[in-house]
Amino acid sequence: MRLPVGFAGEAAGDWPRPPLFPRAEALERTVDVLPGVGPAVKKKLERLGLHTVGDLLAHRPFRYEEPVPERRMADLRADEEVAIAGEVLSVSKRRRGRLQMLTARVSDGSATISATWFNQPWLERQLQAGTRVRLRGRQGRYGFDVRSFDIGDGEATADFAPVYPASEEITPKKLRELVGAALPSSFADPLLAELKERERLPQRADALWALHRPRSLAEAEAGRRRVAFDELLLLQIAIARRRREREGEVAPALGEAGDLLARYREVLPFRFTAHQERAIAEIDRDLARTVPMQRLLQGDVGSGKTVVALYALLRAVEAGRQGALMAPTETLAEQHFLTLEEPCRALGVTCALLTSSSPRRERDLAPEASLVVGTHALIQEGVQLPDLAVAVVDEQHRFGVAQRKALAEASGAMGINGTQAEPTSLSSGGARAAAGVEQRKALAEGRSPHVLHMTATPIPRTLALTVYGDLAVSEIAKPPAERKPIKTAWVAENRMGEAYSRLRKHLDAGRQAYVVCPLIEESETSQARAAEVEAERLQRAELRGYRVGLLHGRLRPAERRELMARFKARELDVLVATTVIEVGVDVPNATIMIVQEADRFGLAQLHQLRGRVGRGAEQSYCLFISRAREDLTESATARLEALVRTTDGFELAEVDLDIRGGGQLLGTRQSGLTDLNFARLREDRDLLERARSVADELVDAPGPLADEVDRATQAAGDLAGA
Ligand code: ADP
Ligand code: MG
Repeated sequence: MRLPVGFAGEAAGDWPRPPLFPRAEALERTVDVLPGVGPAVKKKLERLGLHTVGDLLAHRPFRYEEPVPERRMADLRADEEVAIAGEVLSVSKRRRGRLQMLTARVSDGSATISATWFNQPWLERQLQAGTRVRLRGRQGRYGFDVRSFDIGDGEATADFAPVYPASEEITPKKLRELVGAALPSSFADPLLAELKERERLPQRADALWALHRPRSLAEAEAGRRRVAFDELLLLQIAIARRRREREGEVAPALGEAGDLLARYREVLPFRFTAHQERAIAEIDRDLARTVPMQRLLQGDVGSGKTVVALYALLRAVEAGRQGALMAPTETLAEQHFLTLEEPCRALGVTCALLTSSSPRRERDLAPEASLVVGTHALIQEGVQLPDLAVAVVDEQHRFGVAQRKALAEASGAMGINGTQAEPTSLSSGGARAAAGVEQRKALAEGRSPHVLHMTATPIPRTLALTVYGDLAVSEIAKPPAERKPIKTAWVAENRMGEAYSRLRKHLDAGRQAYVVCPLIEESETSQARAAEVEAERLQRAELRGYRVGLLHGRLRPAERRELMARFKARELDVLVATTVIEVGVDVPNATIMIVQEADRFGLAQLHQLRGRVGRGAEQSYCLFISRAREDLTESATARLEALVRTTDGFELAEVDLDIRGGGQLLGTRQSGLTDLNFARLREDRDLLERARSVADELVDAPGPLADEVDRATQAAGDLAGA
């Protein structure tokens, strides 16, 4: 191991802090330390996710203003965007229909123009006669149409002025001011000078200035790359630490597959596909070793991951030990349980479901079963599985923010931070805090389970390597052969009627259907209420005369189970549902799905939803309904177009990466550390490679960088363990 000069030999916590540099903690201070931030502004900032000074500095401009020429007012030409400067002569206000128009006469000596602002009446006071202003905009119908302006210093009107994601409550202008106030004059830079020189990286403080106050786009990009490098480096160091930690762990070697697995193959009503067989072979290889397996099983919805997962679990059972399947939500846990129960019964393997609503007695007995299915949180916290040899972790909840929030709420209700209650912690240090006494003992003896992570939202390989850099990856790239690709159409709202008549045709032919409502309500409770209202409306209108069931997150598990059973038994024609159906539900007779307001969903989520149909041999259909195309954002359009174009999850993952640029794809692991705000995994491949190799050098080095990794992993909850 080669350590850079200055790091080698220093004791942890003992590195020399440069005098006068603000400590990194300065970034942790809340926004109200900045001038102009009182409780009201603080609240508004918080709603944008901006809590600390550091958050402000990490608020990435989504674009920069184009440079525009400075003009004398006498030289203004129509329809050219320019910057002008002058003195206010007078100001007046009037109405034009619903528009409030504010007009200022401004002169620069060469000429006088009328500058207009719309719907900002409060500016009147700031634009008193004699005020010097700098304006950016163009000559228009009502005079000089002001796009941005400055009173005093030219920040907003400057070339390359940053444009931040703002909200209705906080203007880009205000954000510019606040970010300006947050910019440090000097700043502790965690990277050694030598490293920066070698990697040709600017100072972090300079990078932040360049990012928020660039003089050219090239400068802004150089700043972004430095900050992106830091993000990637922190993440890679955390991954390297975890890898290091794991090297010391020991799992039971399970030898080769035997009789139970042979019987499992016979019990299944089908043969494994070549893709499944390859994944199984990879898993078998891992299980034969004493190094705990850490494998990511990627495969599209319906590609047949669960049967492979069960294979891995049965390997544990065959060896006289236990297997556990962990799901992010109770609904999912139940659905997995239903899938596993049948083959288990046929094989004489005991299988128990364990959720927070399981009765006490069941809970007490569950750990004695050979296979236990439950939620991540529950299995980690509450239950002791001393013989656990294989853990399968379903990480299917890798989609939109709203979904994660819902999950956080759902698991919050159990008193556990479920979104972060991660599988990895079972095998890494994190478990030491979370695991029960027995598990702790097991871990102390060097016994860790083999872990298989399962995800239905494939992530591009680059991304997998970045974030799951410590995991091996198996892919089931093709679903079982006889499946027909789902036919997908994108339907504008005004043609919704046709979509429903199509759906009724399926029902009349004896098939079943899903209708998904995109409920954007805050809480699951209000979602449930909105879903009820919508289901009732449909029952009276489009779905009149059909048997309609309603599935939402507020149903009790027993109710939910009953509902699903009735749907499966064809006692219901249509399941109206919130997004809770997006995973796990398997009803082959359901051949059509309508997703209302599909533009509100993320790509991965829509793809997940769509996977609920097309599970049988029949041709299935998915109809995405959205507002008119011209009302949609560019990215919503891109999402829907991609979904119509392909049903290949791996391809869609690439598209999603293009649209969103990485950070948000990381799902579960996205928090603090993996919140890749600046890195763009496609363009920054080179940075990523460099960060990986630097991380290998620095993994054990104490110093400010290690401190940052500590802070970030703490924020992330688990990544590198306790
Ligand atoms: P996933 O977990 O990847 O969404 P599942 O394992 O639930 O997929 O499989 C989806 C459906 O396909 C299930 O009904 C399952 O029984 C079936 N299936 C799985 N593997 C095969 C196969 N090799 N041949 C035919 N059907 C299969
Ligand atoms: Mg499944």
